[in-house]
Amino acid sequence: MRGFELYDAGTVQEAVALLRKFADRPPGAVKVVGGGSDLVGGIMKDWVAGKGMPIPEVLIDITTIKELSGIRMAADGATIGAATTLTEIVDSKDMNEKLPLLAKSAESIASPLIRNFGTVGGNINQRPRCWFFRGEDFNCYKKGGDFCYAVTGDNRYHAIIGGELCYIVHPSDTATALLALNAKAKIAGVAGDREVAFDSYFIGPREDVLRETVLKKDEFMTHVTVPTMPAGAKWGWTKLKDREVYDFAVVSVATWFTVENGQWKDGRIALGGVAPVPYRAKVVEDALKGKDIKATAKQASAAIRTVSRPMSMNAFKVDLAAGLIERTILEALGGK
Ligand SMILES: Cc1cc2nc3c(=O)[nH]c(=O)nc-3n(C[C@H](O)[C@H](O)[C@H](O)COP(=O)(O)OP(=O)(O)OC[C@H]3O[C@@H](n4cnc5c(N)ncnc54)[C@H](O)[C@@H]3O)c2cc1C
Ligand code: SF4
Repeated sequence: MRGFELYDAGTVQEAVALLRKFADRPPGAVKVVGGGSDLVGGIMKDWVAGKGMPIPEVLIDITTIKELSGIRMAADGATIGAATTLTEIVDSKDMNEKLPLLAKSAESIASPLIRNFGTVGGNINQRPRCWFFRGEDFNCYKKGGDFCYAVTGDNRYHAIIGGELCYIVHPSDTATALLALNAKAKIAGVAGDREVAFDSYFIGPREDVLRETVLKKDEFMTHVTVPTMPAGAKWGWTKLKDREVYDFAVVSVATWFTVENGQWKDGRIALGGVAPVPYRAKVVEDALKGKDIKATAKQASAAIRTVSRPMSMNAFKVDLAAGLIERTILEALGGK
């Protein structure tokens, strides 16, 4: 591994000052780092680089910023510091009581060891897992090259929705749950602070194939704010993997909804593993609105087929998505 400069920021202002100091470096050369399980343990160790994606020269550690660690729970929702570990979310009594959907999604991630040092900010902002992207020999579009190897290569686990130019699927389980929960990202940067709803935080390849979020090169996520679900809301989290042990989602479903006389009143459904961004299945939500959930769940879930454009080897994921949405809704309705 090549050497790099490491700075421990003590405050958000210090981290922003460091981003300002190194503003003249090319995009990707300066990165904030959480647990480093992806950035240091993956990208930098495995030489994932290309002309549009240099190996970082400067890392700004934000786990040394006290105010970015921990969960603050209020009556109307939670504020979670970006440097909070996944284990803290899994173990939090408040989370399990008030936002169990997020706690369950975090629990489904990787192994206890990785969850102990992987942060929620790092999980949401981790780079994609496409095996060509992670391979040193493939200078694909996402690294600044001029080809997508998934189009002609093995695309079993690639996107079935919204792929274009690049067909990654978003790897983060917490991002899928947070999109369903209508969370917002708090962002600090050289030009000031801003807040962006998860509905618009992630960007697909059409907008910019080199990035997966709206973050500019001199910005980082400081917190996530998550509203609590309405009283009595049903919720569900299902993640389908290829292996029993830890693995990324082939398809995952996060949902919450309110019910009146057996009918879908309000709610959201988000899917992981199917699109370059955590995907809001609005087409299914719309098909359920005001309808008897038990009677409509199958047909409404099948509406995901109308927005799916599978690749040569992954049409099976369309069937999985339709089945998993239906199962998650019905289990949530009957169970919690
Ligand atoms: C074997 C293995 C299995 C895994 N399985 C799963 C899984 O099933 N589900 C899943 O969701 N994930 C999975 N992961 C990914 C893992 O959860 C992430 O590596 C981890 O959450 C990243 O956290 P980190 O703090 O270590 O991130 P880092 O490696 O520190 O950072 C990751 C990326 O996010 C950026 N970043 C970090 N913090 C911020 C911030 N606050 N603002 C902006 N950008 C930021 C960094 O610059 C970097 O590009 C797996 C990883 C491994 C190694
Ligand atoms: S899907 Fe995206 S990341 Fe994978 S090879 Fe194609 S361009 Fe690269």
